Amino acid sequence: MLGLMQSQPLLISSLIDFAERHHGDAEVVSRRVEGDLHRYTYRDVAARSRQVANALDALKLGFSDRVATLAWNGYRHLELYFGVSGSGRVLHTVNPRLHPDQIAWIANHAEDQVMCFDLTFLPIIQAVHAKCTTIKHWIAMCDADRLPADSGIPKLTSYETWVGAQPDTYAWPSFDENSASSMCYTSGTTGNPKAALYSHRSTILHAYAAALPDVMCLSARDSILPVVPMFHVNAWGIPYSAALTGAKLVFPGPALDGKSVYELIEAEKVSYAAGVPTVWQMLLGHMKPDNLRFTTLKRTVIGGSACPPAMITAFNDDYGVEVLHAWGMTEMSPLGTLCTLKNKHLEMTADEKMKIRLKQGRAIYGVDMKIVGDDGQELPWDGKAFGDLYVRGPWIVREYFKGEGGDPLVDGWFPTGDVATIDADGYMQITDRSKDVIKSGGEWISSIDIENIAVAHPAVAMAACIGVPHPKWDERPIVAIVRKPGMDVTREELLAFYQGKTVAKWQVPDDIVFVDAIPLGATGKILKTRLREILKDYKLPAA
Ligand code: AMP
Repeated sequence: MLGLMQSQPLLISSLIDFAERHHGDAEVVSRRVEGDLHRYTYRDVAARSRQVANALDALKLGFSDRVATLAWNGYRHLELYFGVSGSGRVLHTVNPRLHPDQIAWIANHAEDQVMCFDLTFLPIIQAVHAKCTTIKHWIAMCDADRLPADSGIPKLTSYETWVGAQPDTYAWPSFDENSASSMCYTSGTTGNPKAALYSHRSTILHAYAAALPDVMCLSARDSILPVVPMFHVNAWGIPYSAALTGAKLVFPGPALDGKSVYELIEAEKVSYAAGVPTVWQMLLGHMKPDNLRFTTLKRTVIGGSACPPAMITAFNDDYGVEVLHAWGMTEMSPLGTLCTLKNKHLEMTADEKMKIRLKQGRAIYGVDMKIVGDDGQELPWDGKAFGDLYVRGPWIVREYFKGEGGDPLVDGWFPTGDVATIDADGYMQITDRSKDVIKSGGEWISSIDIENIAVAHPAVAMAACIGVPHPKWDERPIVAIVRKPGMDVTREELLAFYQGKTVAKWQVPDDIVFVDAIPLGATGKILKTRLREILKDYKLPAA
């Protein structure tokens, strides 16, 4: 027997409709690329999202066609979030920190039809546009009078000209809630990047979950600053959850330095902020020397990399700000766990509470997790046994876009590539990574790419790249090198060898360490854990 309730599809357009009707005068404030502050309301977001939808219709874009963005956090990006997905197209947020060749590869793989970009990224667009064979329309996200002359980009149009001419009425289409809504590429450990393709249903369910009190605890009383970029996993779902709750949104644009972020928090009475540890490192670094205080900030969600204990303490003890340590992945929309205490923890000492807070946290309803040992057997939740972390749930990928990499699931579970413990209360703690990648300032560096470049040098017999701790960037890559017998090459020569290769500047290793041998396992695979142990006393050269 079926239930007798209405079954409206869960569609992203309903979020902006809701925000317009119930929170029409709630503000959305953006620092623009031009440096000034732009201020309007959800009513305006809704009207302009409908103009975006009309503009896409005018370009004759079909259902599920991809519209790419290369943009900072800002109001135009938000309009694209709703206008592109709401009208049935797929929003493809591209990471501008990638090497231009990777950006071109991704745009072609996604078969993007339109590219909307902030003027900051014009040099990237100029470098890649001729290689992007599927993009027919180039839109600069700027006012008409800011459109650069002689950009070299065919038929470049300003965003304001593009959407400005369109009516702001539009009947959002209704369709299957499982239809694709947006996509995000994640750097693979091997081979090319792969895309998570989110659906309307997964996005809405994630938006509900993200707003819950034990998750991000968002409400119509909040003023939210997502510092996490909107090209990272839909900025952790915040744009959708903000519309769902009617929270004020504050976008930092390109100004992510400590001073700019601090001033924005204070000026816009931000109560809640989200970002990777590196950003907060810069913020606290700016505040400390002048003994600056927060007037309104109450909570900050920190994730993407492990949150250093000193940061939790500093926010909590020095500034009275609660840190919510979060763990997730691009493949998980991204939220998986969040660390908040339970009722029974409230009486604990500060030290005991801290031990819990350092963990990545408890699973959100909707996310199942388990840890598995080398023998494939599930391990106990005792806080000691550690194994590969697997997850499943309605906002976790089933497979990658175009089936890349084959079936990623093992018995219906997604292997995260993280190694973790889970305690009896369900708190998960990451202890290691089984995937061969380095995360620096919240962005991935593929160890394999770095090693492949090194071994292409005629004097290199073997190369192994590992991440070493860094106070600002969390991790930085270094490469252990075994030279070929009788061949000589210096550290400087090898570092110079990375110039002009397909790695972004910030992905080039910080150091080269010459070793006699690199530890190998039985199957000839480099034993990174052993290498990390051997180099445990290694210190990065002073910058
Ligand atoms: P991404 O797909 O870029 O969001 O990266 C996801 C990966 O980042 C996870 O699989 C972890 O390896 C790492 N990660 C994310 N959040 C945390 C965290 N709170 N602590 C430790 N590692 C994290």
